[in-house]
Order: sequence, then C-alpha cells, then structure tokens
Amino acid sequence: GRAPGGPYRVVLLGASGVGKTAFSSIFAGAADSMDSDDCELCADEVCEKKIEVDGEAATITLLDTSDAETDDGPAREHYMQTGDAYLLLYSVTDRASFLRASELRITLRRFRPAQHTPIILVGNKCDLARRREVSVNGEETQRFLCVDEVRPLSDMQVPTVALSVSEGRACAAVFDCKFIETSAAVQHNIWEAFHGMVRQLRLRRDSK
Ligand code: GDP
Repeated sequence: GRAPGGPYRVVLLGASGVGKTAFSSIFAGAADSMDSDDCELCADEVCEKKIEVDGEAATITLLDTSDAETDDGPAREHYMQTGDAYLLLYSVTDRASFLRASELRITLRRFRPAQHTPIILVGNKCDLARRREVSVNGEETQRFLCVDEVRPLSDMQVPTVALSVSEGRACAAVFDCKFIETSAAVQHNIWEAFHGMVRQLRLRRDSK
C-alpha cells in the first residue's frame, strides 16, 4: 500500500495554451507550502511538494504534460496509466480545448477502466469570462454579466462567448468527475482544485 499522506501523482492534462504551465508554476511557488522552501524536488515537468489539507499533510507530485494533439505515443500512455489523479484543464475561452478535455477523459477511461481515479474537470481562465452566454430557464439564451469576484485583465481580452459554468458542470456530470472554474492569472481557485483533489484521494484511500 501507499503511505497515507502520499506522495500522490497528480497529472495535468489539457490542450496546449489552456494554462497547465501557469498552474504548475503556482503549485511550485511558495504560496501554500508548509515548508519555507519552495518545491522540495522540482525538475522541468515534475514538482513534488507537501501541502496541508484539512489539517493533514499530503505530498503531491505534479506532472505537467504537454499536449501535442497528435502525440498518443508512449509518454502519453505512461501518464494515462500511472497517475493517481488527474486535473483535466480547458480554457473557458476556447471551445476546442473543451472538446479536447472530453477526448482526454474518454482516453483516460480507456486506460483506467474499472478504477475510481479522481478526476477534476478544470475550466481555467475564468477571469476572461465575465461576459458570457448562459441559458436562462433552460430556454432563452440571454446576454448575461457574470458578477464574479475576479475581474478580466482588460476588456480587449474578453471574448463575447465563453463556455458557461453550466456547460462545464454538465460535462463533468456526464463524465462522472468533479468540476471547478479557476484563473491562474488572478490565482483564483487554484489551491481549491488541489485541495479537492487531495480530499478525493483520501476518500478513496479511506474506503479501501
Ligand atoms: P499550457 O500550454 O497549457 O502550459 O498553457 P500556459 O500555462 O503556457 O498558458 C498559455 C497562455 O495563457 C499564457 O500566455 C498564460 O499567461 C495564459 N494564461 C494561463 N492561465 C490563464 C488564466 O487563468 N487567465 C488568463 N487571462 N490567462 C491565462
């Protein structure tokens, strides 16, 4: 068996440009570390670090994968087979990345069939999605101003139609995983995503 506090191998997956590098930089930074140093063990695409979640220490080894969409080679396969948990990123401003996340979820299911591997669907760049189309009462679609606590970096960057929270949630429900919206740019919900991951890993551990 695995030691109670990990280390847990958490794999970042997602189309290129969705914010995986930004995510791992925040993770590697000192912000939420229990230690005064930064990462205990950091290489190019791997970072191991101890964090505290609900008063209990957990060690996470974060693996940042690059997503050349055509790369379904041995490296991809290795990640798909060896992660304890997965953060499946898309950008709320990029529908193609949303589709890519679905594809990756299906691929994951193929590699990890009967296992209850924790997966969180992460809609990143929510700072850019202040204005978006949402479905109201399931029928009419209206222009809606999301009053998030985060603000866009500049109006020039705000797309007219971004993925809505309900689209993300619906997708997560279909794929039987958790969902969170984040912004690496304004550091919104990044640690919540990691903490949620650790909680799921513990639930799984405790139910064994
Ligand atoms: P990767 O290819 O998945 O590793 O994506 P990167 O982390 O390199 O991010 C791609 C671009 O998106 C970079 O210019 C980042 O600064 C930017 N970016 C990443 N996360 C966010 C975010 O939450 N909000 C905004 N506005 N930009 C972001």
